[in-house]
Amino acid sequence: MTTTRFAPSPTGRLHLGHAYAARVAHDLARKKGGRFWVRFEDIDHTRVRPEYYDGILEDLQWLGLQWDGEPWQQLDRLDHYQGALEKLKELEVVYPCFCTRKEIETELTQITNAPHGPEGPLYPGTCRGLGEFPQDREPAWRLNTRKAAQLAGHLSFHDMQHGEIAVVPHLLGDVILARKDIGTSYHLAVVIDDAAQEVTHVTRGEDLLPSTHVHRLLQSLLGLSEPDYLHHRLILDDSGQRLAKRHDSLAIATLRNQGLTSFEVLELLCQHR
Ligand code: GLU
Repeated sequence: MTTTRFAPSPTGRLHLGHAYAARVAHDLARKKGGRFWVRFEDIDHTRVRPEYYDGILEDLQWLGLQWDGEPWQQLDRLDHYQGALEKLKELEVVYPCFCTRKEIETELTQITNAPHGPEGPLYPGTCRGLGEFPQDREPAWRLNTRKAAQLAGHLSFHDMQHGEIAVVPHLLGDVILARKDIGTSYHLAVVIDDAAQEVTHVTRGEDLLPSTHVHRLLQSLLGLSEPDYLHHRLILDDSGQRLAKRHDSLAIATLRNQGLTSFEVLELLCQHR
């Protein structure tokens, strides 16, 4: 059954960009008589605020984007992410990393040909070859992209707009799969949850296209199902910047308080380019 999801972080109310993402996922599911889930990406617990869970659901309901079932919260699912991490440890495709952000920045300034990805400098691999490591400190766990790629072989994913895309395993470098404070990361959690919720079509902004290369690799390593993808355009503000939480004027709740109807707000989505 066609199954989609909208995965907001409860760190603010929805703005037009979120509404667009939610609408794409909702409409795709409804057109096919399928299911539309809401899943809260709340692992970044320091930025999450309790009032935004209900606030986001209120925004969605007002927009007429009704979801199915109970919304999921990633903070309830940490055991599942832990289990997946253990499996990746057994496969020896992850390694512990003790670097602080500051240490990584310093190291990058000292390397002449620092590796770069679409989002800037990549982790230089400092801890990759670590033999012995301190047992008294909690590490972060990073993907060993080289080993993972060897194990997984050639991979690709299908994007409904861009067609078949070959996976470039090292595109984002040795990403963190488990932060030391929470034991998981966006990449690990999203892959586990999309499989657990039997999501058939992952729809999200095109800014996340590079991440899909990592996700496909993880799906292969963990033996998970392989969804179709739709990386849609982003809603931009008048100066061409992508919308962020600071764009209060384009928050759904603000537009609603100004007297716009939900129909008018959904119309605005078509006008914003
Ligand atoms: N939480 C992400 C966002 O709000 C969505 C991630 C995803 O759909 O995989 O952009």
